[in-house]
Amino acid sequence: MINLLDLTYDELQSFVVDDLKQARFRTDQIWQWIWQKGCTDFEQMTNMGKELRALLAERAFIFHPSIDRAQVSRDGTVKLLLRLHDDKLVETVLIPFNDRYSQCLSTQVGCAMACTFCNTGQLGFERNLTMGEILGQVLVGRQYLADNDLDPLRNLVFMGMGEPLLNLDNLLRALETLPSTKGLNISWRRSMVSTVGFPEQLRKLGETELALPAISLHAPTQELREQIMPKAARVHLDDLMRCLNEFPLRPRERITFEYLLLKGVNDSLKHADQLAKLVDPKRMKVNLIAYNATEGLPYEAPDREQVEAFEKRLWKHGVTAFIRRSMGADIMAACGQLKADQQK
Ligand code: SF4
Repeated sequence: MINLLDLTYDELQSFVVDDLKQARFRTDQIWQWIWQKGCTDFEQMTNMGKELRALLAERAFIFHPSIDRAQVSRDGTVKLLLRLHDDKLVETVLIPFNDRYSQCLSTQVGCAMACTFCNTGQLGFERNLTMGEILGQVLVGRQYLADNDLDPLRNLVFMGMGEPLLNLDNLLRALETLPSTKGLNISWRRSMVSTVGFPEQLRKLGETELALPAISLHAPTQELREQIMPKAARVHLDDLMRCLNEFPLRPRERITFEYLLLKGVNDSLKHADQLAKLVDPKRMKVNLIAYNATEGLPYEAPDREQVEAFEKRLWKHGVTAFIRRSMGADIMAACGQLKADQQK
């Protein structure tokens, strides 16, 4: 049995034509049912005959993750804990912004990178998500917004549980599927992939031109990165920067650096000066995020004034930098917190 959400358009076409011996145009019909209409029941595919619907039900299924738990923050952020077919749990977060929502997607169950400030990192790695499981989050998120009369979904960030570039094959299949005008119709300009940075995979992502990267940098020197992100730092900062300086960008596009400010660890003005030295202002910008203290992790939230002084210092060096609101802090929106809480 095949989950139809795991097939790219071309794969669905060969399933329809070669395996089911059906006319090619059926591919478009099925594709629209599953991606545009979010259909999970072949019986609802009323523009196809009974026999074909029965054949599909015999050979395939359409699986949407179920919502195990939903939490809505005072600021409108919605966090969904999703249950997959094998009972594994992943998180997705819907973040409101200017009459639209952005959705943060997971790409793995758990994560192998073990960044010392991250809840997901403490859970360890379990498995990769398939393309259908990655995009199934979008279908469930979109439906949740519609069911609750909320604003539509516009942007996607691959920034949830897991390291997307360590699940590159499924990530690229998902990115290829998103822009289909007969399907989800989310153009590549509206997707961003957050990664700790692997040069070879970044080069492949760059070649596809399907999404821009956001680099989880969090430290301006190799030494400090080794301390707070020891596994990510196995890629030397010099090699990462070399790769980013060569990353293909179109006019006005920039690579984002994500920088989580941890009190007394990486939030001094000296760190801001070091960070500014790394950033090419014409090709890169910085998002600053103030860490939220989390039970069981050894870090503290930075002082507000320090965060502002850090941002100001970057601007002084000519670097575009913004302080990002830490959305959903009251519902544990930091990656992996809801799942960790559920497991307790
Ligand atoms: S911050 Fe990202 S890469 Fe690091 S452990 Fe957490 S999920 Fe993995």
